Amino acid sequence: MNDGSLKYRVEKVLKAQKQHALHLRTSTAAERIGWIKKLHDWVQSHREVIREAMHADYRKPFTETDISEIYPVVSEAKHTIQKLKRWMSNKRVSTPATFLGTKAHVQYEPKGSSLIIAPWNYPFNLAVCPLISAVSAGCTAIIKPSEMTPRVSSLIHSMIGELFDENHVWVLEGGLEASQVLLEQLFDHIFFTGSPAVGKIVMRSASNHLSSVTLELGGKSPVIITKNADLKDAARKIASTKFINCGQTCVAPDFVLSPRSVRDEFVNHLKEAITTLYDRDGTGVELSPDYGRIVNERHFNRLNELVADASGKGAVIARGGKNIPDEKFIEPTILTHVSAAMAVMEDEIFGPILPIVDYEDLDKALDFVNDMQKPLALYAFSKNASELNTIFQKTSSGGAVANDCVLHFLHPELPFGGVNNSGIGKSHGHYGFLEFSNPKGVLKQRVGLTAASLLLPPYNKVKRMVIDGLLKYF
Ligand code: NAD
Repeated sequence: MNDGSLKYRVEKVLKAQKQHALHLRTSTAAERIGWIKKLHDWVQSHREVIREAMHADYRKPFTETDISEIYPVVSEAKHTIQKLKRWMSNKRVSTPATFLGTKAHVQYEPKGSSLIIAPWNYPFNLAVCPLISAVSAGCTAIIKPSEMTPRVSSLIHSMIGELFDENHVWVLEGGLEASQVLLEQLFDHIFFTGSPAVGKIVMRSASNHLSSVTLELGGKSPVIITKNADLKDAARKIASTKFINCGQTCVAPDFVLSPRSVRDEFVNHLKEAITTLYDRDGTGVELSPDYGRIVNERHFNRLNELVADASGKGAVIARGGKNIPDEKFIEPTILTHVSAAMAVMEDEIFGPILPIVDYEDLDKALDFVNDMQKPLALYAFSKNASELNTIFQKTSSGGAVANDCVLHFLHPELPFGGVNNSGIGKSHGHYGFLEFSNPKGVLKQRVGLTAASLLLPPYNKVKRMVIDGLLKYF
């Protein structure tokens, strides 16, 4: 499609969606559950095709696809199916004496037409989970999957074509040009997942129409281990969550702050954990069927440059460092003797490189975190409960996990999202439903004489007394 016909097509579909959104305002919980159920069943019955598309795009191991792409979608759908009726129902609020004679409730109306822009790193999950929220809230949606994972994008396109009329949900494949044409349009809500840099572009475009936004962004999510941590347990959990998807996870541990006195012991445990996960027979991680690849050459080169820059500035490669350009393979790489002056400590790494930064006392580690942009997640490892509470109280992050990493992403009752630079708004389950809904305050007044009419002019002596009483007692 050239720019002209692309624009024409987008405007045509969006116009039809806006018309349909008016009908969706009165859609019932049963209808919305029906659509989500069909989506759920499609995913369950097409597991093999989803795995193959994911493997074709960036050699994502089949089991990883089951865990990190199919499971989150299936569980989000099931949770929504179970809870939607309750989420949609009006919530009565109590009536203070000054509102005598009235009744009030909160009504969750669909925002209307929505746009979902998805990234490449979990290309299925991060396009379909927001769609479940949009459909649950009664919105229409246009989805723009990532151009970097073309097989998965095309699969999402054909899945949606099978399951929905295009005036309800439509997929537009493409890159920058497609995004730009979409962002010129007036959507009632834009749900964007991607980098903070593009998040700012999306928010600027949204401001032209005052569309509301959910921005699910990234950042450098720190891990703080303390002297009271079980180092072996911490190393095992950090390694498994860092290197899944080859480190290309928004909530992956980005770097570790370790007390200097236990750093070497911790690093030894990390090395063992990596061997156990991917190199049990000692033939090399590159032969492991459970380890993925970097999505493209640009990211492959960027990551290798980070390692070269750190090594050049005095970092030590404690494990890893190997890469195979033809395969876009980068070995799980641990860097020690890392300082804030290295490029690896500037932006989100988004790859299988784990810098370890030493600290002497915990307050200094917290200062280090608070001097950075607020992260999407913060992980703390300690057996001391009050130490964990102090860490969570003295830092700000979108989410936090004690003695593990990443798991909060999968908890159906927790809000998921960032704060400021790592995101605006929350997703998943009820929080996702709320992002696509307008909680409308509705007040119902009685007919005839009302308490409010006592406050109308002319302000005679009796009314002054009523108003004086109101100010004094309420
Ligand atoms: P990205 O920001 O480059 O791209 C995301 C989407 O935006 C893609 O669909 C892309 O086509 C589109 N896009 C790119 N440039 C654009 C522009 N100038 N204008 C409009 N649209 C544009 O992100 P990515 O590389 O696909 O994903 C990695 C980033 O996403 C990381 O920062 C990661 O932390 C973040 N992320 C966040 C979450 C979360 O849930 N918070 C989840 C996954 C990834």
